[in-house]
Amino acid sequence: MGTALITGGSRGIGAQTVRAFAKKGWRTAFFYHTSEAAAQALAAQTGAVAIRCDVSDSQSVKQACAEALRVLSHIDVLVNNAGIAQQKLFTDITDDDWQRMLGVNLSGAFYVSREVLPGMISRRYGRIINVGSIWGQVGASCEVHYSAAKAGLIGLTKGLAKEVAPSGVTVNCICPGVIETDMLGSFSPDDLAVLADETPVGRLGTPEDVAEAILWLADEKSAFVTGQVVGVNGGFGE
Ligand code: NDP
Repeated sequence: MGTALITGGSRGIGAQTVRAFAKKGWRTAFFYHTSEAAAQALAAQTGAVAIRCDVSDSQSVKQACAEALRVLSHIDVLVNNAGIAQQKLFTDITDDDWQRMLGVNLSGAFYVSREVLPGMISRRYGRIINVGSIWGQVGASCEVHYSAAKAGLIGLTKGLAKEVAPSGVTVNCICPGVIETDMLGSFSPDDLAVLADETPVGRLGTPEDVAEAILWLADEKSAFVTGQVVGVNGGFGE
């Protein structure tokens, strides 16, 4: 097994992805931002290395990627998973809301990929897996800035996949449906029951569902899969 760097590894989908990679024997590092205690507990539990980083800040990303490269020596797999969500009417979205949403969900993936790619290109091997959202594919009412950021991530995925395919690097985007994590914290139990009901497989997704798909794209045998948008949504929203 090789080496993997996962952003937003302290909670939810990212934390489960760290566990899944570590369990399979990957040497793993992950970025966290504010959840220090959860990050340290996960590091102790899995042996993965926790590194603090605000992915929306290119200087913080530069330093954190240098640290990741120091501990891993090279990076085979990058999972751009860090993300934030917010529900607001479109006309209530402030400049700060907009900048923050694009900064974390879209610029974050740009900054981290820009740091990690040169090593992948020179080694002529790499897997970049972006975590988008069903809302980037179909759009969500009251989450227009989130939808725009995640749609941007799909564009980044497709363009970069073409640019770096000749260098042996694949770039794909996983688009989860509704997954049970802290991100659903603003939804009531009734809202969640409705969302589960609207999901054809009859339940909400789990972080495990998403981590399994990420592991599949990370596999060296997935070399012919690139530029793809892979839904992990139980049929929801399509
Ligand atoms: P959580 O809210 O559970 O976790 C978010 C993670 O992102 C945390 O580890 C958090 O770190 C990290 N993060 C947030 N802001 C930053 C930042 N500025 N810099 C670095 N890390 C940051 O979310 P999920 O696990 O649910 O979501 C993971 C990804 O999946 C996101 O990209 C999300 O948009 C996407 N997704 C989730 C869906 C869902 O239903 N849950 C559906 C579709 C897509 P910390 O806590 O340390 O600050």
